[in-house]
Amino acid sequence: MSCLFCKIVDGSIPAKHVYDDELCVAIADIHPQSPTHLLVLPRKHISSLANAAAEDQALLGHLLLTANALAQQSGLVNGYRTVINTGDDGGQTVDHLHLHLLGGREYGWPPG
Ligand code: 5GP
Ligand code: ZN
Repeated sequence: MSCLFCKIVDGSIPAKHVYDDELCVAIADIHPQSPTHLLVLPRKHISSLANAAAEDQALLGHLLLTANALAQQSGLVNGYRTVINTGDDGGQTVDHLHLHLLGGREYGWPPG
């Protein structure tokens, strides 16, 4: 298995884990773009949102609810940004689906 995030999920590559459950793992991003920058990774290898299937529906919902729980635990009372980069145009650099949780500052819209 050559997937970086699969190796982080199974513990063979170290990361700062902030949350783990039976479906997902949350880690601190190694290059944080905000005071809070967490990545929520499904334990299941799904290469991108474009390759998620109907059977992943509950898992995808779990990632979102986990992100919100982590945002609340992180004290992001003024809001936060969740991002899933998909494919080359989306800026995805690691081909294992992951949700960014960003907070602690304001974000612009539209994105750059
Ligand atoms: P993407 O660009 O695919 O949406 O996001 C990938 C994210 O993974 C980037 O924000 C990058 O900083 C982060 N990242 C890449 N390699 C590692 C790593 O080895 N450990 C951690 N914790 N984050 C990583
Ligand atoms: Zn993977």
